[in-house]
Amino acid sequence: MTSQVHPAPMPFTSEDYAARMTRVVHDAALAGLDGVLITPGPDLVWLTGYRPTAITERLTLLVLRLDRSPIMVVPTLERADAEAADGAAAVSFADWADGADPYELAGALLDPSSRYGVSDSAWTMHLLGLQRQLPHSSYVALTSAMPMLRAVKDARELARLTAAGAAADAVYEQIVQRPFAGRRERDIAAELAALLRRFGHEQVDFTVVGSGPNGADPHHEAGDRTIEGGDIIVLDFGGLMFGYGSDTSRTIAVGPVDAEAQRVHEVVRRAQQAAVEAVRPGVSCQQIDRVARAVISEAGYGDRFIHRTGHGIGVITHEPPYIVEGEQQRLVPGMCFSIEPGIYLPGRFGIRIEDIVTVTDDGCRRLNNTSRDLRVVD
Ligand code: ZN
Ligand code: ZN
Ligand code: ZN
Repeated sequence: MTSQVHPAPMPFTSEDYAARMTRVVHDAALAGLDGVLITPGPDLVWLTGYRPTAITERLTLLVLRLDRSPIMVVPTLERADAEAADGAAAVSFADWADGADPYELAGALLDPSSRYGVSDSAWTMHLLGLQRQLPHSSYVALTSAMPMLRAVKDARELARLTAAGAAADAVYEQIVQRPFAGRRERDIAAELAALLRRFGHEQVDFTVVGSGPNGADPHHEAGDRTIEGGDIIVLDFGGLMFGYGSDTSRTIAVGPVDAEAQRVHEVVRRAQQAAVEAVRPGVSCQQIDRVARAVISEAGYGDRFIHRTGHGIGVITHEPPYIVEGEQQRLVPGMCFSIEPGIYLPGRFGIRIEDIVTVTDDGCRRLNNTSRDLRVVD
């Protein structure tokens, strides 16, 4: 077996991160915010390249405001790690030692009565600490105030997502060569995880193997069920490669294939295809969801398509934009998201087909390109 070798891309530079931080404070002002408070998680990774490995009960907080340059509050013992991040040259640091009050330090960098956007992933104890320190300020979740903050990818982010998608495709091509009947779901899942790493992922986020009735639960991961002849199996796997996500689903069958399963699979395939063909700049997210849903409803399975059509992907595997009824955000070139309609028949089977796509100037490009036919495996 040959593993495709993806040469590691050039790391983002401190100028790249500085440009992102500049854009954030500008967009924050337009969103009516006086500043943005970033805690460890995807926002911090995207803005600075810093991914603290330690448990984060100690406050780490990047403060971004129009009227001053970026500054990060860090625990003294983690300062050296933070200063080693790719974007650190664009940030100054203020550290606090164990026993000191980090909220007092952070509060001194903030205006007492302002409106701040806060990372969704901020721990409640940190937000409560800030609220105690600055009771006259207000705080709003960043994805409420600036949902599209990370949604439009630049060329180099797109290159990473493309590489991650190609690696996930290579994983699929390998796994369908393997025997399924007589093996447990979790054994297949372990193999998917190993393959993701072999093809270049540094992190595995999920390896769904939903066989037979388990496939009817979209969030079933993998369990002790032994796969048998006649099973329909949902495979859905992904993780991070070069810091960017992959996420693809295919549904396969251990023969003989039930006639309704074959029919339902064809409905999902047509729904997925129609939604992909509907993607172009200016179309709303909810419109893409409606296109997929219409195909499934016309076939009589509308009430069995029990989740949104898709989600954005970037430095994490689920983020805005969400492809869902009610989301009126218009698509913009560079947005990357999943299109993953499914039909779930309780007690019997589930079927889902998922590709990541990126919006281009006149349509979209798929980042997953394996066959979407119902593949029959051993
Ligand atoms: Zn999900
Ligand atoms: Zn998925
Ligand atoms: Zn997905």
